[in-house]
Amino acid sequence: MSDLSVAAVAVERCKTELREFRIPDIPADAGLLRVVATGMCGADWPMYQNDKPGPRILGHEIVGTIERLGELAGEQWGVKVGDLVALEEYLPCGHCDYCRCGEFRSCLETDTRLPGKIRYGSTPVATAPSLWGGYSQFLYLHPRSVMHPVPPGIPSHIAAMALPIGNGFQWAYLDGKAGPGKTIVIHGPGQQGLGCVIAAKAAGAQNIILTGLSTDENRFAVGRALGAHHTVGVDKQDLLEVVSATTGGRLADIVIDCSGAGPAVTNGSIALLRKRGTLIVSSARGPIDGFDIDRIIGKQIVLRGTRGHSFEAVELAISTMAAGTFPLEKMSSHVLGLHELHDGLMMLGGQGREKSIHISVQPWKV
Ligand SMILES: [Zn+2]
Ligand SMILES: [Zn+2]
Repeated sequence: MSDLSVAAVAVERCKTELREFRIPDIPADAGLLRVVATGMCGADWPMYQNDKPGPRILGHEIVGTIERLGELAGEQWGVKVGDLVALEEYLPCGHCDYCRCGEFRSCLETDTRLPGKIRYGSTPVATAPSLWGGYSQFLYLHPRSVMHPVPPGIPSHIAAMALPIGNGFQWAYLDGKAGPGKTIVIHGPGQQGLGCVIAAKAAGAQNIILTGLSTDENRFAVGRALGAHHTVGVDKQDLLEVVSATTGGRLADIVIDCSGAGPAVTNGSIALLRKRGTLIVSSARGPIDGFDIDRIIGKQIVLRGTRGHSFEAVELAISTMAAGTFPLEKMSSHVLGLHELHDGLMMLGGQGREKSIHISVQPWKV
């Protein structure tokens, strides 16, 4: 193998350059991943628009095979050279309170909103050994990596959905408690919203309502194929009427806002909930004006901000993929090479000619 890795580096705002990096020496407690596919996440778009904290290799939903493995790392991770794994983006310390109770996504050592902290897909190339992102042929496997074995038979562009579908299991099932008899409203038919549809369906939810705009019809069609019972373009249809009509006036048990649409959607969610319902918000755009805390109290609503996924959620996503019970192929709209990464990121941000659902990048594709 060559001792260089080609990587697509986000060098400045909305600008990508292909660069070669020397493959680092691998210490006993680390490894090297040959990247097979990396899923493009909605979070890549704000990062691509931001030139802080300097040039970096984006891409944090990473699947690959173990290319090199330090002896200690092999014991620690329970993997061997050639194994196919899906990585989490987090590089948690392993010994703080959060890590010790399994909530390692909250570990401060991997919270890149804090200066100098690291995780895959957002750490600058100036931090040695540079290969921190999935839009690269090889990735440095830091000793604190969190990985999941990928069973045979899952195509790599599907395996690259492990984290968005894992988010779905976290938000809709583990946090939201979707299950038999429950009505769940999911705002936003992007890959996270579709992940929530999959999780709610797998959990046996009785009534899954996916919302967006009437221009989202291609995403709605995928949502229905994945198990949504109703899809509602909120610019054309009265959502409260649909929720009320489909629940016999009982209203929703759970509302998840992963639309990123801001106050109108988040505030409007309160009216959709029955008493003691749960509102989960994973995306907002700044402070929510007019947020009615009195109605939260009056209806005894549980409000939860959520971010990312637990280990269990990603395992549930991978076992769902392996079971082959959902037509996940319909979620995959584009498979791109590194040279097409800029176009893919612009499409992700709604700036391209085409519309995407899930884009995966295969760094060895020419
Ligand atoms: Zn992500
Ligand atoms: Zn920790």
